[in-house]
Amino acid sequence: MAQLRLKIQVTGIVQGVGFRPFVYRTALQNGLHGYVKNRGDAGVEIILEGQELAVQRFLSDLKKKKPPLAQIHNIITTKLQGRNGYKKFVITKSSNEAELSGSVIPPDIAICDECLSELRDPKDPRFEYFFITCTNCGPRFTIIEKLPYDRENTTMRQFPMCSFCLSEYRDPLNRRFHAQTVACPKCGPHVHLTDAKGRTLKLKDPIRKAGILLSEGHALAIKGYGGFHIALSATKSEPLTRIRNVKHRSQKPFALMARSLKAAKTFAVVTKKQEELLSSYMHPIVLLNKSRQYDLSELVAPELHNIGVMLPYTGLHHMLFDGIQDVAFVMTSANPPNQPIVKDNDEAVRNLGDIVDYFLLHDRQIAHRCDDSVVRIHSNRNNIAFIRRSRGYAPAPIKLDRKTKNCVLALGGELNNTSCILNGDKAFISQHIGDVDNVETRAFLENATKHLVRLTNSKIETVAHDLHPKFITTKLAQDLAKENGWQVIPVQHHYAHAAGLMAEHNANDIVSICCDGYGYGSDGEAWGGEILLCTNTAYGFKRLGHLEKQPMIGGDLATFNPLRMAAGILQGHVDLEPWLLSNKKHFPHGETEIHLILQQLARRENMLYTTSCGRILDAVSAVLGVCTERTYEGEPSMKLESTAIGGKDALNLEPTLKNDLLRTDILVAEIFENRHKYSKTDLAYSAHAYLAKGLAELAIEKAFQNGVKVVGFTGGVACNEILALKMQRLVEASGLRFLVHKEVPPGDGGLSFGQAVASGFFHS
Ligand SMILES: [Zn+2]
Ligand SMILES: [Zn+2]
Repeated sequence: MAQLRLKIQVTGIVQGVGFRPFVYRTALQNGLHGYVKNRGDAGVEIILEGQELAVQRFLSDLKKKKPPLAQIHNIITTKLQGRNGYKKFVITKSSNEAELSGSVIPPDIAICDECLSELRDPKDPRFEYFFITCTNCGPRFTIIEKLPYDRENTTMRQFPMCSFCLSEYRDPLNRRFHAQTVACPKCGPHVHLTDAKGRTLKLKDPIRKAGILLSEGHALAIKGYGGFHIALSATKSEPLTRIRNVKHRSQKPFALMARSLKAAKTFAVVTKKQEELLSSYMHPIVLLNKSRQYDLSELVAPELHNIGVMLPYTGLHHMLFDGIQDVAFVMTSANPPNQPIVKDNDEAVRNLGDIVDYFLLHDRQIAHRCDDSVVRIHSNRNNIAFIRRSRGYAPAPIKLDRKTKNCVLALGGELNNTSCILNGDKAFISQHIGDVDNVETRAFLENATKHLVRLTNSKIETVAHDLHPKFITTKLAQDLAKENGWQVIPVQHHYAHAAGLMAEHNANDIVSICCDGYGYGSDGEAWGGEILLCTNTAYGFKRLGHLEKQPMIGGDLATFNPLRMAAGILQGHVDLEPWLLSNKKHFPHGETEIHLILQQLARRENMLYTTSCGRILDAVSAVLGVCTERTYEGEPSMKLESTAIGGKDALNLEPTLKNDLLRTDILVAEIFENRHKYSKTDLAYSAHAYLAKGLAELAIEKAFQNGVKVVGFTGGVACNEILALKMQRLVEASGLRFLVHKEVPPGDGGLSFGQAVASGFFHS
């Protein structure tokens, strides 16, 4: 029998997913000797000795029977010289060697069914242990400080295993064999409840007590895997009003954690696809339509037709619902205004002590913040639109169909930011960072990015950023380039969105409809309703058309007060003064402000111009009285979409194109003229129909003119279900392919990805 000695290197997501135990068992089954170990580049190294046939079987099992959470990207085998020297197969000490790049550790994973049943089993040693985990579940990304993924490199370091946990950790037949997060009530992290000042309350059962306090109407800050949540009753209006007042968040929707899927169905409609996603190991927040029986407080998601819901993803979350009747709690990320999510206990008490009544804390440190992910599924087509891609997803890579020669880092834009590393054929997008408009979020972006570079062992050569000269991320990119000698590539905002779409689908030439609130245009103006032609053979794009330019009276002020936007568009079409005066209470300076606006309009002073689609939706929202003050990003257009649900195209306007511009003044003026004639619902729907028809028609025409067979839809507005589905119907009816994002957010959370692929794939 031929004997073989082999060195095998495996890259992908192979640490923290039970890969070594799997290799160990597979080697034993095939009678092979040697070792397996984790390496500092997030990969796994195996030495095998034995009969050639057995080695072949092993290699086939490696691919076919891998653990559920493992992702194998590459298996490199090298024949070794010399004689066999191992007497058995062992899991050996990890090494710091970092040679290969592109492997990464897994995201945090929701509690698995086996751990959940042990949590509920009075005979189990981990009965009611809030941080019960195994090789198949638990935190990963948020506890890892450095590679290789060993307990001493995570924040579990401070909790040495007891003899019981150690015996399971060492037992090859146990589910917790080499599980780094293994812990029990004796040796693992502890949980305690404190008052608003952080003073510990002596209690036997702090978690269930916390659930009761929530149910009674108290506000709690609860420490989870990747940061703190503020938790509240979802049925009582008093705590919701109080928190909304102190957080200055009068309208922004809060997410809910439902006790169970069954409980979620008592207040929301859950489709099969949504059910799958809610229960997946990622456990994201999924936007669900409120059902007719919706009986939670209207203050949870005011004036919206849908609501963000997630299911409990740790033992602690499950236990919160014990012994009370609540079907759901409000669970919203705890972050002070414009700051990243709070992650440390003392920071929480300092920043949230004035807001909440109690803290539910545990004593394990969070190494890296990670907010919950938010996903929307567009019905009928089951298209997935990421609003935020974070916990459960980051830092797992997105595999692409082509490879970059240059390793690229992209720093995104300003709002809802992420960073992205493009390494070979894989894109690693960071967790959600937030709005990078101050030092704290800049520091978070920088740290998260450096961590991601280390985790993936990437040798960056190029850094990409937004074309906007004044963004903090632009400055950061320039600083990093100078420091490290990297090439710098600025990428126009809407081109980045379109390039992302092309890379995700491996599309060659597309006409892309790019709609959002704001992006810095190549001409320095504000863009946001663009028709771009992009090809994969050239870096850059051709702007083939866009929405008509509209004035923003007072510049950015018009973003916050959509009535200003409406006034600018309606000027010359209607008698503005009486209408504005009837809306006087929505202007902070009342009549004085209105007269100044009229004066500025007449003289064309103090105005910027924008082609933004978001701003048109804002203006319609204001004209219909749906939303006249913007208290959070996207509010007027989100409420307009909610108003349009179930409506019909009462106005049935034919899109008016002027050269390659879609006129929007006609739309807003028609809505205005008919505002008392038709229902708000039908008018809101008519506005969506006009924009969808107009943009789709323009894109279809341009596609045929340029011999392109694919039309894409991207930008934050692509999360809008009515627009996306209507455009899709029109484009497909014309015989063209229609593309939307699948794995990357269409909004600015996907901007870094688009910048990276534009620079790595299309730039030369
Ligand atoms: Zn488990
Ligand atoms: Zn233990």
